[in-house]
Amino acid sequence: MCCNTSNCSPGILHRKNEYPITFNLINYMKTIFTIWLLAGYLLSPGLFAQKGDIMDALLTAKGELYIQVKVHGKADVDAISRIISLDHVNGDYTLATAYINRQTFDQFRFLGYSYELLPNPYETFTGIEMWDLSEKVPADWDYYPTYEGYVSMMNGFAAQHSDICKVYSIGATNQSRELLMLKISDNVNDDEAEPEFLYTSSMHGDELTAYVLMLRLTDYLLTRYGTDPRITNMVDNMEIFINPLANPDGTYKGGNSTVASAIRGNAMYIDLNRNYPDPEDGPHPDGNPWQVETVAFMDFAEENHVVMAANFHGGAEVVNYPWDTWAKLHADDSWWIYVSREYADTVHINAVPGYFTDFQNGITNGYQWYSISGGRQDYSTYFTQSRESTIEITENKTPPAYLLPSYWDYNHRSFLNYMEQAMFGLHGLVTDSITGEPLPSRIFIFGHDTDSSEAYSHLPHGYYTRLLNEGSYNVTFSCPGYHSRVISGVQIQKRQKTELNVKLLSLTAIGNEDICEHTFRIIPNPNDGDFVLNISSKTNQTGLLEVISPIGKTILIHPVELKPGANDLAFHLKGLQNGIYLLRISLEGKYFTKKMWVK
Ligand SMILES: [Zn+2]
Repeated sequence: MCCNTSNCSPGILHRKNEYPITFNLINYMKTIFTIWLLAGYLLSPGLFAQKGDIMDALLTAKGELYIQVKVHGKADVDAISRIISLDHVNGDYTLATAYINRQTFDQFRFLGYSYELLPNPYETFTGIEMWDLSEKVPADWDYYPTYEGYVSMMNGFAAQHSDICKVYSIGATNQSRELLMLKISDNVNDDEAEPEFLYTSSMHGDELTAYVLMLRLTDYLLTRYGTDPRITNMVDNMEIFINPLANPDGTYKGGNSTVASAIRGNAMYIDLNRNYPDPEDGPHPDGNPWQVETVAFMDFAEENHVVMAANFHGGAEVVNYPWDTWAKLHADDSWWIYVSREYADTVHINAVPGYFTDFQNGITNGYQWYSISGGRQDYSTYFTQSRESTIEITENKTPPAYLLPSYWDYNHRSFLNYMEQAMFGLHGLVTDSITGEPLPSRIFIFGHDTDSSEAYSHLPHGYYTRLLNEGSYNVTFSCPGYHSRVISGVQIQKRQKTELNVKLLSLTAIGNEDICEHTFRIIPNPNDGDFVLNISSKTNQTGLLEVISPIGKTILIHPVELKPGANDLAFHLKGLQNGIYLLRISLEGKYFTKKMWVK
């Protein structure tokens, strides 16, 4: 989604009064002429079908068109947003701009909304300076790369910093361009027990500011590693993924040497940010099959466990956080507001006044802006347990190239702040208490988690990350075949890491293992439910006794208090069925288990 708001520059029709240069001037004039010819016709009443015919002809010629629609309130906006690819909405929800393709226009035209044709956004681009392989890379990053220049630069990053950077393709597009992913981390070829973070930009092919800024961020991280302690810490303790260009076919619609004819959709004119499975509207909310770009990113999500991400767009200046699809708030709404606020406030310290101030001074809940379905943000957050925001970085989707260094100055500290957040919150390893084997477990906070907001630990390390706002949490760790554990009162503080390694006891574990400095006997054994626990201890200590039935159900949890020397604790459990029971005592975070035979 892109833009809107009371704070957006006022004229949707006249967003920028700059003149396009050279190569797209002709295109621009043609469109203006077309609109001038069509304007009276399209706006006159009673010619609905004929209007559609003309739009059909233009859609055949261009594939993707940009229109302005008259609407009456947010409900209208949310309704048409489910059909056409909404871009801007004005502050009082009376005018919306949107991209249409053949398919979406066919659904939209019969709803009877009044609309007019606008120039495609790329026809208003100005100052598009390109860099290609034949020229030295400009030091100021005040250019847009050609496609070959982009590929060359990405490969150059990996070649020059092979110890901490690799580049690979996560898939090819319809027009055989590559979806390139950088991984930046120490031990870059290993999957380490570290939080995975993802930046991706420009899935809308004509929103290109962050395309260049992500390349520059990569250069910044790689060249400062080893000398800048903050950057070194991030690279050493995170696995950073950066995909600067998520829709190269849309961006290079006019050929590999220019971005001046970039479109929003992919080569099939499909909006990739409406093409993902949706928590509310199912696997294909836009009615299209998953595009090759969508499949590539879904495969990437399956293979990795990204815990935090941002997806850069253009057309507004705001951090848009989940959810987009429904009005319900995310379980971690207060955390979202905190990290979004941190991004925007840091921008404000470093930017010219008025920049990045849309909505609540640079942040918004997605649905409160307008609802979209099939967006990547909700897909990643709901289906992959990541935390993905949509950052609209510049009002001008593809600004003149000479402005790119300024946008870097305004945003790069926020890029780092936001990335670092993936290292804070709750982190740890979940393992089998007896064998030490890593476990894939579910980490759930009762009374807090909802709508798929829980976290998971993953193999091969049993590592998990649970990003949380400051506070105290009761966290339940569970894994099939294991007894669940609740860890109460876990304290989380802002911009700090809380480490919590958890051992789970197997349901089938039969313990005869020695109990370190404690000896632990059941007298008699076998018994009929009446027994004495004989435990010797070196110190005063308290713990818990858990009695687990033959089917793995905890039937008793009882506090135990031990004094130095021998302790005899009598229990009278009536009505126990015959079988092998497991007695587990937890002391000082360690478990000691014995089996007890009831007959
Ligand atoms: Zn966008």
